[in-house]
Amino acid sequence: MPKLLLVHPPQIALYMPYLALPSLTAYLRGHGKPCDQVDLNVRANRRLISERGLREAMAAVERRFGPGGRDAPDDVRAALELGPDTITRLPAALRDMRDDARLLDDEAMTAAFGLLDRALALASAPFHPTKLSYDLSMRYAPNHVADLQRAVRDEAENPWLRLFREELVPEMLRGGYDVVGIGIAFEEQMIGALTLARVIKELAPHVVTVAGGNVVSKFHTPLLAKNFLFEEFDHAIVYEGETPLERLCDALDARAAGSAAGHGAADLAAVPNLLWRDGATLRVNEMMYEQVPSLPPPVFDGFPVDPAAGDGYLLGHTIFPLLSVRGCYWKKCAFCTHHHSYGWRYRVRPPQQLDEDIETLARRYGARHFYFVDEAVPPAQLKVIADYMCARDGGPLHWFGDMRFEQPLTDGFCRHLYAGGCRMLIFGLESANQRVQDFMDKNVKVGTMERALRACTQNGIFTVTMFFTGFPTETLQEAKDTADFIFRNKPWIGTFSNGSFALLRGAPAQLDPDKYGITSLQPDPDHDLSDDYRYSVRTGLTQESAQRIAESIGRRRTEDEKFGKPFSRELILLRESLRPPPTQGLQRQL
Ligand code: SF4
Repeated sequence: MPKLLLVHPPQIALYMPYLALPSLTAYLRGHGKPCDQVDLNVRANRRLISERGLREAMAAVERRFGPGGRDAPDDVRAALELGPDTITRLPAALRDMRDDARLLDDEAMTAAFGLLDRALALASAPFHPTKLSYDLSMRYAPNHVADLQRAVRDEAENPWLRLFREELVPEMLRGGYDVVGIGIAFEEQMIGALTLARVIKELAPHVVTVAGGNVVSKFHTPLLAKNFLFEEFDHAIVYEGETPLERLCDALDARAAGSAAGHGAADLAAVPNLLWRDGATLRVNEMMYEQVPSLPPPVFDGFPVDPAAGDGYLLGHTIFPLLSVRGCYWKKCAFCTHHHSYGWRYRVRPPQQLDEDIETLARRYGARHFYFVDEAVPPAQLKVIADYMCARDGGPLHWFGDMRFEQPLTDGFCRHLYAGGCRMLIFGLESANQRVQDFMDKNVKVGTMERALRACTQNGIFTVTMFFTGFPTETLQEAKDTADFIFRNKPWIGTFSNGSFALLRGAPAQLDPDKYGITSLQPDPDHDLSDDYRYSVRTGLTQESAQRIAESIGRRRTEDEKFGKPFSRELILLRESLRPPPTQGLQRQL
């Protein structure tokens, strides 16, 4: 039986583990497949910002740009000059991030995360103009195949090539793996994933590499059309991977046993959701979807989830991701493609299993904090979670989730959610103008939003709202209505994020442009792995003016004393978990 390693590649934020690999690992182990997993994102970043890593970065800058970084651009020279101070102060900053006594101190948190930014800037300085922060920016576009091909070969500017080749890949492969699955959930991981696959092939050509994850599902058509995927990977799996990976292991096993008889191709043809090369032909196998009720709770073994070790995720308590459903129960919003990640299928985790998921993680890893990473947690599942937490031996654990504004978010319901450990809800508000709301098929009443925000905040639940400007036909005044709503309801909104409308491939607005007043749309020719379009509209804001308005609201947010705090949602959850309960009848945080 082939031995499998699943890898979560860089570069994304280091706040908490991502759910995909722990779900796959649990399933595969439960079906008798030897499977390990590693969060290479954390491993690589921790290595780069270690004292040794930062000293090496300073030496490398001087080798490349001369003593004191003489010939370096200003930002690189500044990172070098601040280097000794960064190295001295970073350990205390990382301790502050994990210290409950410091968590509510805004200044301490801002300073600690500012120092981390400085450390990442120094770590990436030798690779100028490449920059590392919570993503990776290189001179190459991450959504252009020709650029990606150059990025994974660039020995001078790719920060992963040497580190992977000389340290991290040899260390990983010591486990004697036959198959390495690389999960690409975010576009920011593309360069890290491709570089990793390339280095594995360089060092261990016999190891089978498999790409998977949301990005592969989303872009598999252009990736195949450009014949790019199989330059770096042997196979790819799209959409859900539990059964496909299990069957792939069986097929590889059978192929190894029967290769002399030439049965390999037939075995791979039976693996659902698999993209593979059959000689010169690219094959896309039949799709299948998992039975959500029968899946086991995720397993985080191998991920650095013990905060006491000090070498894993940044915060002092690990927040464990869970799903209460797969897919979205609404599925109608005209701008949205999120519900595609699960192939349009909506499936609910039954209450008993959801309770068992929570309890298993609490027992096995001491989990005290959860993030329900559903596209939108349905109110019924919120109730299941809160009911369980209220009844649980040892008391409720703290959690947050994303959701739609819904009628059941009344004062009484929010009180129950708070009692059941809910400390934050993230809402896709999109627009607070009723005509635009209805036109985009989000179909929430503005009054419902207002009432829900108030009920949450008065009952101790921190609220995050997300919205955008420029949905086709939206006028300047309608865009202003949303900004006005946000600032008028400031007492009930914890923070917000905003952007401008993106016309995405596969969204209802792209599939039926005329219905939404879109007169022309064209893919960006420079970004062949991008799923958004340039477009023009019959009436309302143009794409450019929508972007300008979004930027101006964004500036207003940054300058706002309440909304401008640069804290991640994970940090906010931990901060909210430490606050005393709201006083009955009094409003908090006004
Ligand atoms: S925006 Fe949210 S609620 Fe609307 S269809 Fe997408 S995932 Fe569902």
